[in-house]
Amino acid sequence: TDVVLEVRDLAKFYPVRRGIVLKRHVGEVKAVDGVSLSLRRGKTLGLVGESGSGKSTLAKVLVGIEKPTRGQILVDGEDVSNLGRAERRELRRHIQMVFQDPYTSLNPRMSVGEIVGEAYAIHPDAVPAGGKAKAVRELLDRVGLNPDHIHRYPHQFSGGQRQRIGIARALAVRPKILLCDEPVSALDVSIQGQVINLLEELQDDLGLSYLFIAHDLSIVRHIADEVAVMYLGRLVESGTDAEVYEVPSHPYTRALMSAVPVPDPSLRDQRREIVLEGDMPSPVDPPQGCHFHTRCWLAPLMESRVDPAGSQSRSIPTICRTESPKLGALESPDHLAACHFADDVSAH
Ligand code: SF4
Ligand code: MG
Repeated sequence: TDVVLEVRDLAKFYPVRRGIVLKRHVGEVKAVDGVSLSLRRGKTLGLVGESGSGKSTLAKVLVGIEKPTRGQILVDGEDVSNLGRAERRELRRHIQMVFQDPYTSLNPRMSVGEIVGEAYAIHPDAVPAGGKAKAVRELLDRVGLNPDHIHRYPHQFSGGQRQRIGIARALAVRPKILLCDEPVSALDVSIQGQVINLLEELQDDLGLSYLFIAHDLSIVRHIADEVAVMYLGRLVESGTDAEVYEVPSHPYTRALMSAVPVPDPSLRDQRREIVLEGDMPSPVDPPQGCHFHTRCWLAPLMESRVDPAGSQSRSIPTICRTESPKLGALESPDHLAACHFADDVSAH
């Protein structure tokens, strides 16, 4: 397999300090805790999780905004985490970001030409032979905008057009990987499809690889070849698109799936609907054992089987309350889930 980006055991912890004058170090938030992923060339990996799951922190580490606490990032097999500044910058060029909100991520005082060409200041080597202005015009054309609008300002464009500008900006330095952080969630539903289509077209034409971050599974379903699901800083499930959608094997994934709206009723999932209760616990003080046990719908069903004498109020099996489940292989070696009862998930 041809892997363009590999993340090994990546972690990002933030210190938590309390007190007004003497800020005492009282603990840490494990925003990302031991995540391993691989992205294949020319493919899309959908990374799904609610806000607070750690997916945005992971993105910041990958584009170099944050330094990892632990772990490795490999781009084309080369470890980016242990390079010097200049080399790191060169490799970082290959991971560019498309931001969530095209209304706030474009500087209103800069012209479209300045915005799209901005990255050339950081990466002068990336300016194509024909020069910057020509390159910017070509980029605008490539994303479906009028190249003659190079001198216009962001407010003169619609939301969808602004996101096209954001995509052109990300493409300017000819990256291998686009990290798309919920790139369509701020757009009207009618526009979302157009932007997704553009991303797919660009992927086919340019051989780009996408890490596509989303908070639900519905958008990812169309674009992703592989899917990874995060909860409280950890991966809880990953696999191919078909594996994860057809045989969801973590109770959290299963719950996210039943929230996916299906336009055609005949295609609706035959499995029962599952509503996730409660909010995500604080990452400062995550639950012991399985991080998901405070919201898990499956655990109480398993309880009678494994722990008949259990006395907890929600009757959660002891193993769920005490042992953190490892991400383990299911029927296919590439389909992984972190649940003590992974084999029972899709039956319920
Ligand atoms: Fe639920 Fe237990 Fe599986 Fe965690 S390990 S997801 S609590 S059944
Ligand atoms: Mg695809």
